[in-house]
Amino acid sequence: MTKRALVCGAGGFIGSHLVRRLVADGYWVRGVDIKQPEWSSSHADEFVVADLRNPDSAAAALIGGFDEVYQLAADMGGMGFIHSAETQIMHNSMLVNVNVVEAAAHAGIDRYFLASSVCVYRDMELGEAELTEDDAYPALPDNEYGWEKLYAERAVASYAREGRFQARIARFQNCYGPEGTWTGGREKAPAALCRKVAESTDGTIEVWGDGSAVRSFIYVDDLVEGVRRLVDSEVSEPTNIGTREYVSVQELVELVASSAEKLITPLWVPGPVGVQNRNFSNDRIESLGFDPKFDLVQGLANTYPWIANQVASN
Ligand code: NAD
Repeated sequence: MTKRALVCGAGGFIGSHLVRRLVADGYWVRGVDIKQPEWSSSHADEFVVADLRNPDSAAAALIGGFDEVYQLAADMGGMGFIHSAETQIMHNSMLVNVNVVEAAAHAGIDRYFLASSVCVYRDMELGEAELTEDDAYPALPDNEYGWEKLYAERAVASYAREGRFQARIARFQNCYGPEGTWTGGREKAPAALCRKVAESTDGTIEVWGDGSAVRSFIYVDDLVEGVRRLVDSEVSEPTNIGTREYVSVQELVELVASSAEKLITPLWVPGPVGVQNRNFSNDRIESLGFDPKFDLVQGLANTYPWIANQVASN
């Protein structure tokens, strides 16, 4: 009676952590990715290197029968990447989502999980009340990455309405932790700041914007716990997964500097900051018993040393 799960994007940051968790939970897991896992060997029972932009590869990935499909594969990065690779995101991620959901619809699976993003929401004013999941409409995402995610959500929901499978759709907040992308232009803010602080020899780092943008970050183990709770639940509507801890970028710099035990002065420079403010309801995921264990201090205490170690050995 072992459950079988297919994890698309299993070579990436969150996908590789999810594979480890599913195996620990007793699943038989096939991981699929266009590349081998970057940081550690895969814990999947089977790992297939395949380009899911190809419909035949997506169909082949589903051969063998699965109870659950976890779709995390995406052409993905932080704000620097999102604002410079619009056509790449619209083309590549859209093809992956179209192909995997179509293949899953014909494979007789029980549940289809999609990793969406809080980038589907509009920008917010400081002090504005929380946005609930329903407030994604009328839609006004800040970037094409958010629009592509909305399209993917709607595609998954439409197949679910046809009765092909049950949909589970999570909108992730910014995720960080060990084994996340930390250099190369696709890294997100926490990893980029950890790298810059680790590299700094004169006590300064350049940071995009003016430090006032507000964000929330979720540690990868907590995010994976939220994914598992959502998939096991009966909630088929899109569901935010994040924490209630919000910080300005300036405060994030201070937290990273403190976990590095370094005195750091940020030099604010122009760059792609994204939206100014965030404030999302987590009521839906919390109604499933979700209660994140890591605040930023604890999460960075695990993440900074891992990134500092990468910096030292590269
Ligand atoms: P990641 O880039 O580490 O993982 C994505 C994986 O998809 C990569 O390993 C990549 O090689 C793979 N992939 C890309 N194109 C592919 C293709 N054509 N065929 C097969 N595999 C392909 O990113 P991540 O941070 O682990 O994000 C996982 C998912 O969560 C993504 O869908 C992302 O949009 C979503 N998400 C992440 C965050 C975050 O903060 N990291 C926030 C919101 C949503």
